[in-house]
Amino acid sequence: MIINKKPRFVFVVGGVMSGIGKGITTASTARIFKDYGFRVTAVKIDPYLNIDAGTMNPTEHGEVFVTDDGMECDQDVGNYERFLGEDIPKVNYMTAGLVYQSVIEKERNLAYGGKCVEVIPHITDEVERRLMKAAQLAKADSTGSRQADFVLVEIGGTVGEYQNLIFLETARIMKLKMPDRVLFMLVSYFPIPKMIGEMKTKPTQHAVRALNSAGIQPDIIIARSAVPLDESRKLKVSVFCNMQPQDIISAPDIASIYEVPVNFEEDNLGRRILAKFGLKTKAKGLKQWKDLVDRIRKSQKPARIGIVGKYFGTGDFILSDSYLSVIEAVKQAAFSLNRKAEVAWLDAESYERDAKSAGELKKFDGIIVPGGFGARGVEGKIKAIEYVRKNNIPFLGLCYGLQLATVEFARNVCGLRDANTTEVDPQTPHPIIHTMAEQVEKIKQKDMGGSMRLGAYDCQLNPRSISHKLYAISRISERHRHRYEVNEKYVPLLEKKGLLIAGRNPQRNLVEVIELPKNKFFIASQFHPEFKARPLSPHPLFVGFIKAATE
Ligand code: GLN
Repeated sequence: MIINKKPRFVFVVGGVMSGIGKGITTASTARIFKDYGFRVTAVKIDPYLNIDAGTMNPTEHGEVFVTDDGMECDQDVGNYERFLGEDIPKVNYMTAGLVYQSVIEKERNLAYGGKCVEVIPHITDEVERRLMKAAQLAKADSTGSRQADFVLVEIGGTVGEYQNLIFLETARIMKLKMPDRVLFMLVSYFPIPKMIGEMKTKPTQHAVRALNSAGIQPDIIIARSAVPLDESRKLKVSVFCNMQPQDIISAPDIASIYEVPVNFEEDNLGRRILAKFGLKTKAKGLKQWKDLVDRIRKSQKPARIGIVGKYFGTGDFILSDSYLSVIEAVKQAAFSLNRKAEVAWLDAESYERDAKSAGELKKFDGIIVPGGFGARGVEGKIKAIEYVRKNNIPFLGLCYGLQLATVEFARNVCGLRDANTTEVDPQTPHPIIHTMAEQVEKIKQKDMGGSMRLGAYDCQLNPRSISHKLYAISRISERHRHRYEVNEKYVPLLEKKGLLIAGRNPQRNLVEVIELPKNKFFIASQFHPEFKARPLSPHPLFVGFIKAATE
């Protein structure tokens, strides 16, 4: 539906603290507009100086999500893709580092014609240029047009921080230039301190003041809290924050993130925003989404899945964000089979300290070894894989999971005792997993930013494989993020001993999927299927895995 030639922008900013659901708010609002029939896209802005998320440890920043076109970005882009059911392109992600880098590059190329290059307007212009470009590259509809009707723009961090000021400044300037095409949503937190036992609005009042001092008045507040906001607090926020009570949308904690669009619609969020833009719709929307939420609520029988990883801890806390897409893929596959996923984090290093402790894996219906980097935890993951292989526990390996499953098989089935990946042991006599040819020089030169084999590549599935049956097609496309691969030299031996090469990249013949046909379900992929798993179209590999695990 083309509402007028020009896109509208909804900026989403956070108040009081991070981690309260700005990403889900952005994704859910985008979904609501999509269901009204609009063309929508969503952009994430991160205030840090890294050029992309690829060089950050997941315990620092959560999962590194990868787009089809190979951008290593923030996990919120994954939320947008999951809620919209669409691929989000590279241009929809930017960091302060990336923006500064391109301005500085232009300056070196004399692109500013001798002018003094300044944060304002040159950085703000560059951010605006990128947003305008994203607005032109939304998913094409039947008319072929790619211009978005709405662009949701999530600004990372919280208001009042030094780091994201320049992005708020861009948003302010855009509002000034296009007053009827820009509005602001503040996602803010309303604490209920235990010793007081009452919901407090003051932190949000301060957040609104901080936003005001950046020249911005929120049009909508999403009130995140443990429980719904009551009428008296709504009125209070309304008066102190200078807003209509209907523009303060209650967003209490809920069991599943997928309920958020439905709850927002019950509070009329979509139509409130439309009205502010002077628009109306008769569309009902969210039909499929409501069915999904119903199904989630009804799925009660558990599917117990263990994830053997190492990016869990931040201080004394467990941070499951590192494996966000994997967890969502598991949940989606489970509820497509009317099951409720119960996911447990298993620390790979614990199996190194005590080999017998791998016995705990039999408590689970299925085990996943997800992606990872470096030597820490590797031997523990290999122990876990050995245990599930021998005990015929359904297993899904993702990227490093494929590589380590191959090492385990080489060591314990093919008798190559010191087999390893060169990532862990460059001198291993049996480099079962070795550096991809084009990566050797990059690693030597420490050219490590955005230089892996990234994004979507094809894979041709072996017609005899379970994977082929699950996908129900022979040629698939999946997303990648790796520097190492299965060493072709060892493939004949691996095959002779019973490993099935279930999928290969046709262009360079690289191993993409392995299976152990002897086991009930033992599949591992070099790619990351989790990046393409979506609630309305759960991923076939995950569905196959959960099915095998719960049968
Ligand atoms: N570290 C391995 C590689 O670079 C696996 C990467 C991953 O699991 N994403 O090839």
